Amino acid sequence: MKHVISLLLCVALLFTMPVCALADMNLAAGTYEGTGTGFQGPIKVSVTVSDSAIESINVLEHSETDGISDPAFEKIPAAIIEHQSIAVDAIAGCTYSSQGLLDAVKAALLSAGATEEMISRPIAAQSAGELETQTADVVIIGAGGAGLTAAVEVLRAGGSVLVVEKMAAVGGNTIAAGSALNAAGTEIQKTGTMAASGVEAIEEKLALEPRSEAMQRWQASIRKDLDAYLASGSNQVFDTPDLHKLQTYVDGDYVGKPELIEILCDHAPQALTFLEELGMSWRPQITTAVGATWSRSHQPANVFGGAGSDFVLPQYEFVKAHGGVVALEHKAEELIMEDGRVVGVKGFTSNGTPFEYRANKGVILATGGFSANVEMRMRYNKYWANLDETVPTSNQPCATGDGIVMAEAIGASLYGMEWIQMVPTGDASLNASIANEMYINAQGNRFVAEDERRDVLSGAILAQPGSFCWKVSSAYQAWDIQGGYDYKGNAIESHVQNGKAVVADTLDDLAAAMGVDAANLKAVAEAFDKAVTGEVPDALGRKVFEYKMDKGPYYATKSYAKVHHTMGGVEINANCEVLDTQGNVIPGIYACGEVTGGIHGANRLGGNAIADIIVFGQIAGQNVMK
Ligand SMILES: Cc1cc2nc3c(=O)[nH]c(=O)nc-3n(C[C@H](O)[C@H](O)[C@H](O)COP(=O)(O)OP(=O)(O)OC[C@H]3O[C@@H](n4cnc5c(N)ncnc54)[C@H](O)[C@@H]3O)c2cc1C
Repeated sequence: MKHVISLLLCVALLFTMPVCALADMNLAAGTYEGTGTGFQGPIKVSVTVSDSAIESINVLEHSETDGISDPAFEKIPAAIIEHQSIAVDAIAGCTYSSQGLLDAVKAALLSAGATEEMISRPIAAQSAGELETQTADVVIIGAGGAGLTAAVEVLRAGGSVLVVEKMAAVGGNTIAAGSALNAAGTEIQKTGTMAASGVEAIEEKLALEPRSEAMQRWQASIRKDLDAYLASGSNQVFDTPDLHKLQTYVDGDYVGKPELIEILCDHAPQALTFLEELGMSWRPQITTAVGATWSRSHQPANVFGGAGSDFVLPQYEFVKAHGGVVALEHKAEELIMEDGRVVGVKGFTSNGTPFEYRANKGVILATGGFSANVEMRMRYNKYWANLDETVPTSNQPCATGDGIVMAEAIGASLYGMEWIQMVPTGDASLNASIANEMYINAQGNRFVAEDERRDVLSGAILAQPGSFCWKVSSAYQAWDIQGGYDYKGNAIESHVQNGKAVVADTLDDLAAAMGVDAANLKAVAEAFDKAVTGEVPDALGRKVFEYKMDKGPYYATKSYAKVHHTMGGVEINANCEVLDTQGNVIPGIYACGEVTGGIHGANRLGGNAIADIIVFGQIAGQNVMK
């Protein structure tokens, strides 16, 4: 989404900033424009200077992600004017946006006749304050999707809530999410159709030997519902919460706990209505997130912003409007235990001020996963050949596993820590669905069934020459379904302009732009089309199809395997109470979201994490108040 900032905001900035002229600043008074490069593309500013001071900074245009980049745009111009220097710190969590903004201001100031030395004066570090103390009914650690969902439930139950968040903005990984929430049996899902190969996929799961009483029960109920569906002659996507459970359990290699999977899949449809009640809405089409293996991924209509904003900002607005307190730049470091019960949390603010927050009813851990913590992922990984610092992550820098460390320090049990997910993630995020995508290697061939699990997809990509693939989609996906925008709300064409995607009207021209063999690419597209109609089964065993690859313009973007999700974490029971290593509840402490383990097993289905954080966020918030 390209943002053109309103003049009103610029004027407000001009009048509210205190400006002190500096003797060594020697500028040609006037207004100058400058451009820097942020995460999503150019950031353009205009800077007004007098002959001895930086007077105002106006951000004219940027394409950065709402929510994630907000702190950079709010804080950096003010800090530059206050200190009359561009040597201000980048904001943690939006370093690319910060750097792009700083580069843009620098370019404008250089045009005004400044020298690097003149505008880079060092800034004194802020000193730490006195101990901050506060008490609320519930203290929540982490203002991502799970934490803020829990906060909504605490407030609805009449409690007071204090959320501590270490970053300068709320949202965590949730605000960066690819926009898919899995839920079975919704009205939106009924808009989707299913190829005959879909029935084969279900039959394969029904033929499996049951590994638990729950699995046997799910298989029996699906058998009954599937028979009724086949008798009806319907071509709608077949789905039930029990099929969702079976796929979550089996594709998680039976490592997930059936009692938690049961809750996740039964409650997932209500996660949609929970968010709707807070003001968000859904796109009318159903999609299939990468690694979802089934067409049950619901995408937000981007009411609150791009990417995953709709999964976390509705809760944030509710929390602010109902008296909840969110303390930003407060990093929790230790849980306070008294007489065997967790009664609060200690930590430090970003300027080193200590804080101690106490909770009358309980503390909820909602600190997310540890994909961005190289030391932790290397310590626990047993599956991938290498997860060192050379392996990129799709995660925000906040995902460092702090909650797991704090919980372990008070004797909590950890579950499934070795299961770390990699996912094919591109230079550009054209699309959050695989239904209309082909994965193409450097030779122009498909090499994996794109509806496979994420570990299979990532492993297959790592095995290709150069360890990358191209994700290729047609006009059906880019235009008919997405209306020319990626799932974050950016124009797809902007990725082409930024060099992150290629486009062509024909497959011949697309192959040339990708640098792959055109004959191979056309042959795989032809075979793909036959599999869509069911004329010939897919040679790679793919079952999820929607449209043929017969309509240009075609788009392709490069994709790599990145560390994406950590399935393991703090062990909880069905009430989100944290368990110790003997299986006993530790009083006063709850956990929800990616910080927990035991729901997704050895492999998470794409789209199941957003369902997880809403469902278990609600449960944690409700139970801490009981
Ligand atoms: C790029 C991307 C796309 C994704 N797309 C999807 C998708 O489409 N569908 C899907 O189901 N899943 C998706 N996922 C996974 C999903 O987004 C996450 O699993 C989920 O959002 C985690 O939510 P959470 O609330 O548990 O953690 P987060 O949203 O990460 O929130 C945790 C919060 O805790 C804060 N915190 C951490 N430590 C501390 C501390 N010590 N003190 C104070 N605060 C702390 C963090 O700063 C953060 O704000 C995606 C993940 C990524 C990275």
